[in-house]
Amino acid sequence: MIRAKGFQRAGIILIILMSILSFGISQSKQEGTMMSKENTGNKTEAEWQKELSTEVYQILREKGTERAFSGKYDEHFEAGVYLCVGCGDTLYTSETKYNSGCGWPAFSDGITGKIDEFEDNSFGMRRTEITCANCGGHLGHVFNDGPKPTGLRHCVNSASLKFSPSEESK
Ligand code: FE
Repeated sequence: MIRAKGFQRAGIILIILMSILSFGISQSKQEGTMMSKENTGNKTEAEWQKELSTEVYQILREKGTERAFSGKYDEHFEAGVYLCVGCGDTLYTSETKYNSGCGWPAFSDGITGKIDEFEDNSFGMRRTEITCANCGGHLGHVFNDGPKPTGLRHCVNSASLKFSPSEESK
């Protein structure tokens, strides 16, 4: 009888522990979702999915990453501006684009106010995610190993961008 009670108590403690643990997991999941889905660009995920190609949707809306050296703007240095592929807002100018050798388009800065930054601790790394401030589309990450004077490297997926050449270079 005493033994059975002991088992019962252990069982109750186990249930309590497990519910605390699962509460913690669901909390952190919710935070992750909040961060990623905060800015939906006034569109439902179904609408984005319909509008974008599978590859672009995975990168822009699901925070995917294109393969290094595979993007169309990695080695692209024409004069003009880079727009968000999701909403068309101007995010970067060609004056800030440089060849970082990292395999993705790199910019030493974004246009002021056009890019949001979020802490990203996914994949066991501490990084800063960058998104389009207007529609929330995932662009890439920003690192502190860029050229002077900013010292920044905006490492952006080509798939998140759309280039628009300047009038002179057309
Ligand atoms: Fe956008």
